[in-house]
Amino acid sequence: MQGTMIYGPRDIRYEDRPDPQITRPADAILRLSATCICGSDLWPYRGNPGVDKPTPMGHEYCGIVEEVGKEVRNIKRGQFVVGSFATSDNSCIICRDGYQSSCVQREFMNSAQAPLLRVPLADGTLVPTNEVPPKELIPGLLATSDVLGTGWFAADAAIVKPGRTVVVVGDGAVGLLAVLSAKQMGAERIIAMSRHESRQKLALEFGATDIVTERGEEGIARIKDLTKGIGADSVLECVGTQESMTQAIRSARPGGFVSYVGVPHGVEIDGRGLFFAHVHLHGGPAPVRRYLPKLIDLVLTEKINPGKVFDLVLPLNQVAEGYRAMDERRAIKTLLLT
Ligand SMILES: [Zn+2]
Repeated sequence: MQGTMIYGPRDIRYEDRPDPQITRPADAILRLSATCICGSDLWPYRGNPGVDKPTPMGHEYCGIVEEVGKEVRNIKRGQFVVGSFATSDNSCIICRDGYQSSCVQREFMNSAQAPLLRVPLADGTLVPTNEVPPKELIPGLLATSDVLGTGWFAADAAIVKPGRTVVVVGDGAVGLLAVLSAKQMGAERIIAMSRHESRQKLALEFGATDIVTERGEEGIARIKDLTKGIGADSVLECVGTQESMTQAIRSARPGGFVSYVGVPHGVEIDGRGLFFAHVHLHGGPAPVRRYLPKLIDLVLTEKINPGKVFDLVLPLNQVAEGYRAMDERRAIKTLLLT
């Protein structure tokens, strides 16, 4: 087969790769229906941090099971399945507590920007649907694999519930789906921070009630203006920079909740500032597996359409253009068809 490799900054190649094989008895091999490029893939793409050797890319996937190892019990050949970017046994104490992305057996997936994929711990990682879904639902189902699961965790970790005022920091695909998630959880007011018109439009479509374009001190002041001077109940940090984290902590009211789901790059938290902010902080790599059954059901019953975040669709062999378009912010998120 061919697959996606990164060689260095802005050097993505679609090239010959060995077909994945069952290497351990709990593995499954999937033939992917679609895959995509993650905002977090742009960090190595931009060389921050860079790669020290050619490295396979991709960790969002859904598709049909081609083959299973001899210890696999629940996942069967021919099923349509969705999995997370982190593998999990779904049985250890951490998994049972709902933190499957820190499972004691966790591995981070890569090499999903390819037609075939090996998934370790298939029984614990993959969630099958009852039937093979219609083609038009594939983008939405693919979104549950990471970007929606992560946005959902952002809302859940910041205790979004009916009546709450929510701020979403970041208008990438995760931020936009955090807006959708907050709406599903019944938030009364959802303030999306965004400076890009096309993203503002999608945020409003997903349920945002207000848009704030300012950043930094001005952004914080604007949130205070909109919240009677005290800050929001729940703030969802969906970027991972110092600016966005500071924005999030300072936009929450005392006693409020701040979640953070963007992979941090150079973020430092001032202890004294945090102490007097008086907020709850909860985040990390999203335990997508915890939410997959619910999110898959919401997509299959067409209650939500998270597939709308894909505003560029390319064949897999044009993956390099997909990265360029996202890097240059010409696209929010690129869907790759196998
Ligand atoms: Zn586990």
